[in-house]
Amino acid sequence: MNFKKLEKLLEKAPAYRLKQIKKAILKDLIEDWREITTLPQDLRQKLSENCPILELKAEKVLTSKDNQTIKILFELKDGFKVESVLMRHRDNRNTVCVSSQVGCAMSCQFCATGQQGFKRNLDAGEIVEQVLYFARLAKRTLSSSSRFAAARVTNVVFMGMGEPFLNYNNVLEAIKILNDKDGFNLGARHISISTCGITEGIKKLTNEKLQINLAISLHASNDELRSKLMPINEKYSIEKILTAVDDYIKKTKRRVMFEYLMIDGVNDSPEQAEELSRLLKKPLYFVNLISFNPIGHSLFRPSPGWRIKKFKEILEKAGVDVTQRYLFGREIKAACGQLAGKN
Ligand code: SF4
Repeated sequence: MNFKKLEKLLEKAPAYRLKQIKKAILKDLIEDWREITTLPQDLRQKLSENCPILELKAEKVLTSKDNQTIKILFELKDGFKVESVLMRHRDNRNTVCVSSQVGCAMSCQFCATGQQGFKRNLDAGEIVEQVLYFARLAKRTLSSSSRFAAARVTNVVFMGMGEPFLNYNNVLEAIKILNDKDGFNLGARHISISTCGITEGIKKLTNEKLQINLAISLHASNDELRSKLMPINEKYSIEKILTAVDDYIKKTKRRVMFEYLMIDGVNDSPEQAEELSRLLKKPLYFVNLISFNPIGHSLFRPSPGWRIKKFKEILEKAGVDVTQRYLFGREIKAACGQLAGKN
């Protein structure tokens, strides 16, 4: 829903009304204005005519065989499509991966969204609504599953379609709504932004009074390869990104994650692991190795398990803090943009 419009509609109402309505939407997760029975009838009527709670339509819902990943293709009010994914972890975390833009202008070669081009930014309400959809779903269904006790969204990551720092204001507004204690009340430490390295965004985030997590999509150990995989590297080289990250760490004392997709024969050799170690052996840096999720027409393939293991060992031996991400929902095309691209 459009929170700015809501505030405007309630301009003349007593201040407690906005608080009451935000609680109903973000905490009680209502889907229809008729559910707030404490509101005067005429106000409910006005709100339902001018400010719909649900603006995103779930056009497709795909659930992985192991029931751990649910991917939704949403249709926006102007007909554009975006995707969001819920990942249910065995330790009771339920992470929602949200989109921040329709399409993306960054053209990363390994990414289905990057092949679609940029259409428009999402507003804060459209971002928040992706999370609320899963929060309602969790409340309705996840509690009935004994393997996943937490019936709520516990983490939000901006790793879906789009580059969040190119939609900075709306992304930050959405984060503030999600973080609001009187609303969705999701701790800032449970929210992460992943960027391809827009240094202006990293610098702005450094000065925010929010303890959200920062992740960098690196995917290469040198500029030559990174520029081939991610053309934006021509503007934001590895050196520029690491300088901005070092400043971020100096000021915030927070850890920064470097995401590294493991692509067969492209960036997964022992020499590249050594090169990456030299770049990333620093305090508060940590690397997350991710098995590549093939995007159909792409020439890229996932690295075999043994090579990922070897790559990880080299990083560990060099003293780099490294983890390997569990691969969610390959068969339902859970990687960013794979479903919207098909439509
Ligand atoms: S990986 Fe991220 S930044 Fe790159 S094209 Fe895809 S959505 Fe855009």
